Amino acid sequence: MNLEGIGMTSRRTRERLVSRLLEKGIANVSVLEVFLNTPRHLFVDEALAHKAYEDTALPIGHGQTISQPYIVARMTELLLSHGTPEKVLEIGTGSGFQTAVLAQLVPEVWSVERIRPLQQKAQKLFSVLELTNIYLRFADGGFGWEEAAPFDGIITTCAPESVPDSLLQQLNPEGGRLVIPVGETEQSLYLIIRNGDNFQREKVEGVKFVPLLNGTINKDIGE
Ligand code: SAH
Repeated sequence: MNLEGIGMTSRRTRERLVSRLLEKGIANVSVLEVFLNTPRHLFVDEALAHKAYEDTALPIGHGQTISQPYIVARMTELLLSHGTPEKVLEIGTGSGFQTAVLAQLVPEVWSVERIRPLQQKAQKLFSVLELTNIYLRFADGGFGWEEAAPFDGIITTCAPESVPDSLLQQLNPEGGRLVIPVGETEQSLYLIIRNGDNFQREKVEGVKFVPLLNGTINKDIGE
């Protein structure tokens, strides 16, 4: 596997993406550095590799998408803006790109995915990239990951109609942070900070995510 990339997947191309992220307001240097070092082209189909460092979402099969780099960077920055969380939960592993970004910035990433073939593909990449601080679960992430809670940070990469109570309950009561898109056709990204029984909610910006769906899909049912 070509980790470094050549041509449209080379370091030069990645540097251009990082400049775009800077222009768009991403200021966390550690986050930008991780974007420079993470081979996003491995997280998409080979036929789309030449588009991997454009700032756009791309299809990853099963009706799902790898999120736009800007939004991955923004959500990561929001999660990290008050110090590094020890333990982070992600709902929606998908391609695994957001997971891989987080794994280079925080000690532990726990990630739940409801589509088995996507999870398996991501798992292989994590071992190729030698990311050993990622714990995966095949389940409906709408219920979080109770056995592993509490989490200092939770990030949801699919949009529920309203914030699931289980995610709020699994936040660390001392400043746990939840970054989550909410809504159907009109979606907004929220940052929710927990202090005891108080949940402070801040609307960040308008976004477009695939929906959070119920249940699990175990087999490859085609595209
Ligand atoms: N972070 C991923 C985003 C993939 S799209 C990436 O950048 O590649 C969102 C993912 O959320 C999809 O893989 C979808 O299957 C998953 N998803 C949707 N509802 C879910 C649920 N209830 N539990 C777990 N994963 C879910």
